Amino acid sequence: MIIRARAVVTMHGAPIENGAVAVSGDRIVDAGRFDDIKTRNAGHTVDLGEQALLPGLINAHCHLDYTRLRGKIRRQKSFTDWIRAINAEKSDLSREDFLASINAGFEEAKRFGTTAIANLTAFPELIAYVRPPIRTCWFVELIDIRAPQRANELVESAVESLGRAQPPFALSEAEQGALRGGLAPHALFTASKDLYQRCREIAERKRLLLTTHLAESREEMEMFRDGSGPLYEFIKDIGRPMDDCGNETPLALFLDLIGSGSSPNRPQAIKVNRPYLSWIVAHLNELTESDFDLLERSNPKFHVVHCSRSHKYFGHSPFAFDRLRSLGFNICLGTDSLASNENLSLFDEMRRLQEDFPRGSP
Ligand SMILES: [Zn+2]
Repeated sequence: MIIRARAVVTMHGAPIENGAVAVSGDRIVDAGRFDDIKTRNAGHTVDLGEQALLPGLINAHCHLDYTRLRGKIRRQKSFTDWIRAINAEKSDLSREDFLASINAGFEEAKRFGTTAIANLTAFPELIAYVRPPIRTCWFVELIDIRAPQRANELVESAVESLGRAQPPFALSEAEQGALRGGLAPHALFTASKDLYQRCREIAERKRLLLTTHLAESREEMEMFRDGSGPLYEFIKDIGRPMDDCGNETPLALFLDLIGSGSSPNRPQAIKVNRPYLSWIVAHLNELTESDFDLLERSNPKFHVVHCSRSHKYFGHSPFAFDRLRSLGFNICLGTDSLASNENLSLFDEMRRLQEDFPRGSP
């Protein structure tokens, strides 16, 4: 069949006015101007009229666990206060609430044209009970701040939970394809060095993806670089050893952990020939000039997820969109959770991004 629309947006070049795609079986086999598609392909035409036809969108960072927290947490004075607020809200929710949250989140994401999602869950035991309506990469979020001796155990049980994931509704296992699931050591301030290392080893062995929150807030920068501030005090009170604080930036510590070969102590970039071992790094809002030197040398380049509306909600430092792109980083968009955003629309993320970076083309 041929599907015509006022505009067809492909993944290459500008939108095609009066465009069409030709579909054979479950594949798009041709895309271009309607007149050209008609001459090159047989089959009946469906005319969508005054619409734009575009590929499904990918949400590269979200936490559907917290869909039910929409509108519940007002902007706080500090990132640390927000962590306190979300922890308080979470303590009121049951397992059933979280399951309902995840399912509601999937439906909402799908309604906004999202067809693939990288979803972090803090409740890996719930993965087996969800039949996602869209292509899903589950990331088990791992925190060992209260029990660092349990790093191995946590990772093992995460991998088991990933093994129980159901294929998305109406998609075959083959179509789910490369999305094998992944591990998400939460952040440098909640996951130990051992936990990061263990996640790396297992991800490499099982060909899983990896994601983490990095350099999200000024308070995270303050904690690691200066060894002070509200996040430092909050985390110290929980009992985390703080001997890695007061020296390096979050990015420098992270690059050391993932062995990117760009740390100042190892000036020569080590070429890592493991394309499946890839990190999706969420946020990267707070960077110093020395961080940019490290990023320039970092090899391989990881993926960066920018959550434009969550960024605004927290009032982080301006995101270095142009600079990171010019260094060769793949910038993705994510909605983050509804504890810091109002809906799961990637169109709204794109609108916000364009307001922040009006020079970029739509
Ligand atoms: Zn997040």
